[in-house]
Amino acid sequence: MDRERSLPSPVAADPRFERLLVPGARLERLMSGATWAEGPVWMPDDGSVIWSDVPNDRVLRWSPAGDSGVLATGAGFQNGHALDLDGRVLACEQGERRISRWAADGTRETVVDRIGGRRLNSPNDVVVKSDGSIWFTDPPYGIVSDWEGHRADSELDGNHVFRFDPATRDIEAATSFLEEPNGLAFSPDERLLYVSDTSAVLRRDGTGNHHIVVFDVVRGRTLEHPRVFAVITPGVPDGFAVDVHGNVFTSAGDGVHVLAPDGTTLGTIPVPERVGNCTFGGVGGDRLFIAASTSLYAIDVATGGAVRETTR
Ligand code: MG
Repeated sequence: MDRERSLPSPVAADPRFERLLVPGARLERLMSGATWAEGPVWMPDDGSVIWSDVPNDRVLRWSPAGDSGVLATGAGFQNGHALDLDGRVLACEQGERRISRWAADGTRETVVDRIGGRRLNSPNDVVVKSDGSIWFTDPPYGIVSDWEGHRADSELDGNHVFRFDPATRDIEAATSFLEEPNGLAFSPDERLLYVSDTSAVLRRDGTGNHHIVVFDVVRGRTLEHPRVFAVITPGVPDGFAVDVHGNVFTSAGDGVHVLAPDGTTLGTIPVPERVGNCTFGGVGGDRLFIAASTSLYAIDVATGGAVRETTR
């Protein structure tokens, strides 16, 4: 592991930020070589991190055992990943326009790719609720060009956040409020769902959204009462993670911005490349893995994500 002294240290904007940091902890660059890094997920079985190099249609794997490398190529332009309740990898395949699930032998099967007979746009990011339901965003980024998927027309009436129940195979739009939904994460009690809207990305005129909206999760399945939680600048809140205290660690153009549950900016973890997404991992859940442009970074933190027991 390559501990680089030149990488910057976190910068506090609020005294509460210090309680989230490990004194002396510094950002580490773990692995490089991607064009646009996304979708990190920590694998509890071996302590590795799977992450995406979306434009090159590659899935990469960083391993503390030293055997890091390319895990898969030509794998549907994967973007976001999550683990289901059995610990299996779910992938957002922008190219195949589906959510897929990895089998133990590395093959992938379709979890969901349609609603009402119409193809999804290009699933971008995915989370799994404690009841096993799969929530994902479906912006057009994989079909607007061949850069991160395959150019195609949308078959839907917009860009939705979907809830899919693998038990019943029911799929429904949980909200259609956002222009271009992108990252998403539940609060620790799952009473809130944070979803970013990054419609500024495709605009050339400086308009469009680069904010995170928070919704109430009503009856465990519908999203109501949307309100803007935070406007992120520079850059956009592409993907983010919520810690056990409800603080939001979001990607931005200059690093990871950390926001309290009330939306106050607590501080920034500067990263020398534009950040796409982040996730908590490590044995105690207290290590933040950051996918940023060409590289995967990590930093130890004095907080962490909710560590979910899998049934495996
Ligand atoms: Mg994303």
